Amino acid sequence: MMAVLSFFLPGGALFLASLVLVHVPAVREHLPEIVAVYPLAIYVIAAVFGWRFNRSVLVFGTVAIALSHWCLVHFGVPRPEGELAWHIAFGSAALLLPLNLLALSLFKERGIFTARGALRLGMILVQPLLVGVLAGRDPGRYVDLIENDPLPFLKVLEVPQVPAAATLVSLVVAGCLYLRSRGARESGLFWTLCAVFAGFSAASRQDSMVFFLATACLILLVSIVEVSHALAFRDELTGLPSRRALREDLLKLGSDYCLAMLDIDHFKKFNDRHGHDVGDQVLRMVAFRLAQVEGGGKAFRYGGEEFTVIFPGRAADDALEHLEELRRKVAASSFAIRSPLRPRKRPANPSRKKAAPKKVSVTISIGAAWPRAGSASPDEVLKAADKALYRAKKKGRNQVST
Ligand code: GH3
Ligand code: MG
Ligand code: MG
Repeated sequence: MMAVLSFFLPGGALFLASLVLVHVPAVREHLPEIVAVYPLAIYVIAAVFGWRFNRSVLVFGTVAIALSHWCLVHFGVPRPEGELAWHIAFGSAALLLPLNLLALSLFKERGIFTARGALRLGMILVQPLLVGVLAGRDPGRYVDLIENDPLPFLKVLEVPQVPAAATLVSLVVAGCLYLRSRGARESGLFWTLCAVFAGFSAASRQDSMVFFLATACLILLVSIVEVSHALAFRDELTGLPSRRALREDLLKLGSDYCLAMLDIDHFKKFNDRHGHDVGDQVLRMVAFRLAQVEGGGKAFRYGGEEFTVIFPGRAADDALEHLEELRRKVAASSFAIRSPLRPRKRPANPSRKKAAPKKVSVTISIGAAWPRAGSASPDEVLKAADKALYRAKKKGRNQVST
C-alpha cells in the first residue's frame, strides 16, 4: 500500500487533479485566462529553482517543454484544410519531447553551466532546426512518415502511433527505473510523461494542451523538490531517515513514548578485517532489519554505526519486547558478503568449485529509555538511552539495557 502511494504521490495526484480540473465548468470557462499566466509562471519558477539547486534535468526539461509549447502555439491548432506546418510541429513535438525528457533523466547530473550542460542544451535547441531542415525538403513525405499509423485498426488516439509508441516506451522505461530505485525522480518522470501525453491528446483544444504541458513541468518541478527533501532527510547509505528527520520527529512526540539507541558491536573489526566497503554492506543489512521493526517503531540512522528507534505512544514494556525481538533477529541472521576483491573478468581457467559467499554474523547492543518523571525532554531521554546503551556494552554486548 505504502509502495503504491509513494509511486502515486505527488506526481500522480497532480496529474489526476489536472485531468479533473479541465473538466470543471468554472475552470473550463476561464481556461484562456488561466493559460495566459499559468505556464509562464511555472516555467520561470521551475527554471529558477533548477538553477538555484543546480538540477540540470529540471532546467533543461523546462526548456524542452517550453520549446514544444512555443512551437505548437506558433504553428496554431489544426485547421480543417490541414496545415502542413502544424502537422510537422505537432508530430515532431509529440515524438521528441517524451524522448528528450527520458534522456535527460537517464543522464547523471553534470551541472548546468558546464561543458556537458551546454552540450545537453545544444542538443535540445538544435532539434527544431533539424526538423525544419528535414521537413523543408519534402514536407508532405515528412508528415506521412511521422503521422503514418502502422496499425490502422488501433487508431483510437489523437496522437499518431509513432509518437504514441515513443511515449509508451518512455513510460515503460520510467516504470522500470522506478521499480529499481523507488525514487521520487523516477516516479516524477513517469507522471510528467503522462501529463505530456495528455497534452498532445488534447491537441485540438489549444488551451487544454498548453494547460497539460505546463502541468507536466509542474510535476517535474515537484519531483525535484521531493528529491532535494529526500537528500536532506534520508541517509544515503542505508536509506533510513537521517538524524535531521529524527530531530523533527522528536519534537512531535507526546508524553508517552519509548526510544532506543542501537550500536553495532565491534563494528570497527569489520572495517579492519574486510575493508570499508564490506563495513558499508553490513550497515545496509542491519539498517534493512531495523527498518522492519514492529510495534509502531521507526528507525533512523543516528550517525556512523549508531541507530535510533522511536516508539511514539508506546508503553516501555511493549517497546522493550519489540527491541528484544529486533536484537534477536539481527543476531540470528547471517549476512552473505560479496568480496570486494572479486575479479571483474572471468579468470582464464576458473576453479571448478564456486567460491561460497563469505558469511558473517553481526550483533547489536540496545539502550532504551522513556520519560519516567513525565517531564523529561526528548533530548534528555535520548541521553538516558545512550547511557543505557553504554551499560549494555559493558555487560557484554548483544543485549538490551534500560
Ligand atoms: P563497540 O562494540 O564498542 O561499539 O565497538 P565498535 O568497534 O563498534 O565501535 P567504535 O565506535 O570504536 O567504531 C565504530 C566504527 O564505525 C569506526 C568507524 O570507522 C566506523 N564507521 C562509522 N561510519 C561508517 C560508515 O559509514 N561506513 C563504514 N564502513 N564504517 C563506518
Ligand atoms: Mg559507536
Ligand atoms: Mg559499535
